Amino acid sequence: MALVALKNVTKTYPAPEKGGREVVAVDDVTLDIEPGDVYGIIGYSGAGKSTLVRLVNALEPASSGSIEFDGRELTGLPERELRKVRLGIGMIFQQFNLFTSKTVQGNIAYPLKVAGWSKAEIAPRVAELLEFVGLSDKAKSYPEQLSGGQKQRVGIARALATSPRLLLADEATSALDPETTQEVLELLKRVNREFGVTIVVITHEMDVIQSIATKVAVMDGGRVIENGDVFEVFSAP
Ligand code: ADP
Ligand code: ADP
Repeated sequence: MALVALKNVTKTYPAPEKGGREVVAVDDVTLDIEPGDVYGIIGYSGAGKSTLVRLVNALEPASSGSIEFDGRELTGLPERELRKVRLGIGMIFQQFNLFTSKTVQGNIAYPLKVAGWSKAEIAPRVAELLEFVGLSDKAKSYPEQLSGGQKQRVGIARALATSPRLLLADEATSALDPETTQEVLELLKRVNREFGVTIVVITHEMDVIQSIATKVAVMDGGRVIENGDVFEVFSAP
């Protein structure tokens, strides 16, 4: 069974500036993301990638169609149920979105606090995550003291804290130089291999897809215009 199953998903936004016409951000998308996939979603700016991610993360409802996570229909679930679903989904961002007033360990501990873990449970879990991302010596540093690559590794540790089955990476390497990008992608590969976490990588960069994804969907104008195994989609006809 697919971990994420999108069926004929459409998302429209009102567009008063267009004389009442709607913007179709995601247009009739049908896509299965299987457990263990590293699924790339590529497309130009405005193609609908971020909207698709917000729909999968249940941050916004679809206008029509069905979105199942782990066999459960998200459309129509009450907010408190959606919050539980979101605990099973980690997210990392282009600008890292770390809490600047919290230390590295405070950032990683945060989702665990929200999930109700005790201090005694949080400390060893944070230590384990710091070790996994190679930042044990930075536990008490603040984000501003870190390089971009280190910040994203904190982002990854925080996203993994509650052991999600799905990790959504929205342009997660777009603010990094090529070398740091490769380091972060290698870490994401380990997340996939060692923990079996399914990863969805949103990007406008072909290189990122080539180096990490096993499957890819190409988006344009809100639609998925092609999808499948990376080598099939991108091999010359
Ligand atoms: P991408 O992530 O591929 O750059 P987006 O999902 O951000 O694309 O945007 C897809 C389309 O939907 C764009 O035309 C964008 O302007 C529009 N859009 C996205 N979010 C909103 C919103 N909250 N309100 C109105 N229009 C939006
Ligand atoms: P903040 O960053 O919010 O100012 P701290 O840096 O003091 O706060 O850490 C916040 C949380 O980090 C605490 O809840 C604590 O349990 C947890 N924590 C994570 N790792 C450790 C560790 N190795 N030793 C002690 N506390 C830790």
